[in-house]
Amino acid sequence: MERHPPGQGGDRVLRLLRRPLSRRPTDERLLVSEIFEGGRPRGERRDLGTLTEPAREVPVYRTCDVLVVGGGPSGTAAAVAAARLGADVVLLERYNHLGGLSTGGLVIWIDRMSDWSGQLVIRGFAEEIMDRLPKEAVAGPARKDWGSKDAASAAYWAQRTAAFHGIVTWSPTVDPERLKLASQEIVIEQKIHLAFHCWAALPLLEEGKVRGAFFESKAGRRAVRAKMVVDATGDGDLFARAGAACETDIEAADIHHCINTAWLLGGIDMNRWLEFRTREPEPFARFMARGREQLRAFDRPFVSWRNDIALFMGPRHSGFSALDVDDQSEVEIRSRRLMAQHLDFYRAHAPGFENAFLLLGAPQLGVRHARRLVGMKKMLRAHWPTAQVFSDEIGVTPSVSPKFPNLSIPYGCLVPAELDGLLACGRHISCDPNSHGFMREIPQCWITGQAAGAAAALAASRGVEPRAVEIGELQSALVRQGVYLHNRERNSCQAEARHHSAPIT
Ligand SMILES: Cc1cc2nc3c(=O)[nH]c(=O)nc-3n(C[C@H](O)[C@H](O)[C@H](O)COP(=O)(O)OP(=O)(O)OC[C@H]3O[C@@H](n4cnc5c(N)ncnc54)[C@H](O)[C@@H]3O)c2cc1C
Repeated sequence: MERHPPGQGGDRVLRLLRRPLSRRPTDERLLVSEIFEGGRPRGERRDLGTLTEPAREVPVYRTCDVLVVGGGPSGTAAAVAAARLGADVVLLERYNHLGGLSTGGLVIWIDRMSDWSGQLVIRGFAEEIMDRLPKEAVAGPARKDWGSKDAASAAYWAQRTAAFHGIVTWSPTVDPERLKLASQEIVIEQKIHLAFHCWAALPLLEEGKVRGAFFESKAGRRAVRAKMVVDATGDGDLFARAGAACETDIEAADIHHCINTAWLLGGIDMNRWLEFRTREPEPFARFMARGREQLRAFDRPFVSWRNDIALFMGPRHSGFSALDVDDQSEVEIRSRRLMAQHLDFYRAHAPGFENAFLLLGAPQLGVRHARRLVGMKKMLRAHWPTAQVFSDEIGVTPSVSPKFPNLSIPYGCLVPAELDGLLACGRHISCDPNSHGFMREIPQCWITGQAAGAAAALAASRGVEPRAVEIGELQSALVRQGVYLHNRERNSCQAEARHHSAPIT
């Protein structure tokens, strides 16, 4: 099942950083972005043999109903959804904050939550956490404008991450510190046991079923015993080590497999930059040509939640493995050098950047893709035009282009094909590379996280494996938690019901 993209195993192709690859023209992506081939020029690693670790007694740190590993968007949503159904939940996170890439990775552009008609379809936890952010921590169009085709409004928001194909969308930028705090507080409110600085190293397997995890900490190795585990690591760390089948193939023309570390520049005048970009096309084209000439891997900024802060989520590199420490280190080093080079270039040549300074390089490496689960079901490119509503639907996502209807997300893509005791959510769910292009986005990770958490709580309480969770009961629980599903009468009253999600009886 393992199939390797370039640089992720097998013969490593030696490539030097070079001009962007030409991309196939398509309207099936929101961002037609440049990808820089960056495979590291080095030979194969020498085989230095292996060592046997001595067996050891591992203290049990905690027992619980549901263990969630990884506190990114999907893990935070999973923990909260499980706790709201009455589960005793432990949330393990390797860093010092919640939000994963949406905070520590500086991926502060929360992609589209409204569909092409302006209807908010990514709801539930996503809507709640966004509502909890202070007004000044969010920049995006007013609700009345979602779905607007007004040319002036769409042109304005197109420059500000919130209009595509001439339609205004709810896809704001946010303050990452506020999102960390809101995520932390919602978790604590639910009496979830939150443990930072815990790196989950191995699944705890009993009779081939996942029943917890071993983690490393400053105190040494510890274990959590759980009835159900949610793997929200983004990289499938737990299900891969438990032996579940994974896929690693990619869509080369999409940025979904690229890696880079994002950064923020402060002290800029974003309005001045946008004016330059939109009103002075020829000088702008010359600026971009010069940047490419000098830096080779060269990128443009995105807006942020503030006019004086610019976000760089590229240059994006392909050909590196997110599972290889040398590749990870190389991407960090390159990204930080590019950050300094971009600062110098923009300060010297970009209107609005005259007083720019380095504000922050992301504390977390920007990994879009590592492994994907082989699940009971799989989201496929072939589904996009069909408007098929899955009987086990756990959420609805906007499509990538107005030519496609909203897409139904099946529960089966969170459940391993064979492994029991575990659910997956977030950017490593079961899907093909095309569908990964949008199912990895933050709002979709909130949806699949919420569903995985709710399902884990139901499985733990009913004493069944995730594959045997009663779908009607899961869907009712999700709708009570505010999730939008096709054909559910109760969608209309979900907002009122959201905070009264009943524990399982
Ligand atoms: C550069 C870049 C730009 C992007 N642009 C956008 C965008 O504009 N809009 C958008 O919506 N999405 C964007 N994305 C995608 C999006 O940010 C991620 O796919 C999304 O955050 C994934 O959420 P997740 O919960 O699945 O995983 P993550 O956000 O990766 O969170 C996983 C969490 O698990 C923790 N963890 C991992 N392994 C372990 C372990 N073994 N033990 C303990 N903890 C562990 C991590 O520390 C992390 O907190 C972008 C991604 C990147 C990298």
